[in-house]
Amino acid sequence: MPPTTATEGYWGPPTSTIDWCERNYDVSPYIAEFWNTISNIAIFLPPFIGIFQIYKLNLERRFMVAFIAVAVVGFGSWAFHMTLLYPMQLADEFPMVWSTSVMTYLQFTLHRSPESPIDTRLMALCFLYAFAYSIFYLAFTNPLVHQVTYAVGLYFLLIKSLLFTRKMKCKTCSRIVYSIWILLHVAFFLWNIDNHFCSQLESLRERIPKGLIPGTQLHAIWHIMTGTAAYIHVLYLLHARGHFFKSKVSVAVTRYGFVLRKEHHH
Ligand SMILES: [Zn+2]
Ligand SMILES: [Zn+2]
Repeated sequence: MPPTTATEGYWGPPTSTIDWCERNYDVSPYIAEFWNTISNIAIFLPPFIGIFQIYKLNLERRFMVAFIAVAVVGFGSWAFHMTLLYPMQLADEFPMVWSTSVMTYLQFTLHRSPESPIDTRLMALCFLYAFAYSIFYLAFTNPLVHQVTYAVGLYFLLIKSLLFTRKMKCKTCSRIVYSIWILLHVAFFLWNIDNHFCSQLESLRERIPKGLIPGTQLHAIWHIMTGTAAYIHVLYLLHARGHFFKSKVSVAVTRYGFVLRKEHHH
C-alpha cells in the first residue's frame, strides 16, 4: 500500500477547481483547510445575531432574507474548505452571487413602502442575473466565470450604495459604506497575495513559530473581513430604510463596531 500523503484526508482527493494556499489536512484529518474552514464562523455567526435582532425588535422581515443569504454563504464556504469537493465549491460560490442579488434588490427598493407590492421587474432582473450566472457557471466551470460575475454584481451594488450615501449626506450611511469599501478592498488584496504568492507564504510558515501561522492564512482573513463587510452591509440597509420610513432602530458606532440599537423616541 502506498503511504497516505497529506493531501489524502477524510474527504478524499480534492475535486474542486481551486485548492487554496493552506496545506490540506495539516491540522485535522477531517478538515481539508482548517483555518479557511473555521474562519467562516465570521460569515455565518453575525447574521444570526442580526436575525435575532430583527425578530426581537420586530423589524421588517425582508432584511432577514439578506441575513439568511449571507449565512448560507458562510455554511457553503465552510463545507467547501472542509471538503474541497466540487459540489461544495458551488455551495460556496452560488450563494455569493445570489446574496449580492438579494442585497441589490433591497438597496433599490429602500424607498418603497413596506405595504407596496414587490417590484416584480427589478426582482426578475436580480433573479435573472443570479440564475443566468448559475447555469453558465455549471456549463463553464472556469473559476473566472464566478469571480468576474461576482465582482461585477458586487461593484454594481457598492457603487449604488456609495451614490445613495452621497445623496443622503448621512454620517451613519457614509461611515458604514466607506467601511465596507475599505474592508472589501483590503480583503481582496489579501486574497490575491494568498493566490499569487503562495510559495512565499509557505516558506514563511516554515520559518515562523507555529502560533503565528494562522496569521499567515490570508484566505481565512479574507473570510473574516468579507463576513464583517456583508454583516454591516445589511445593517446599513436596515439603517438606510429609516431615511424613508420611520425606523425603530438606529445603527450606533460603539467600541464593538456598528451595532443595531432601539431608537428612543422622546
Ligand atoms: Zn473561501
Ligand atoms: Zn443614513
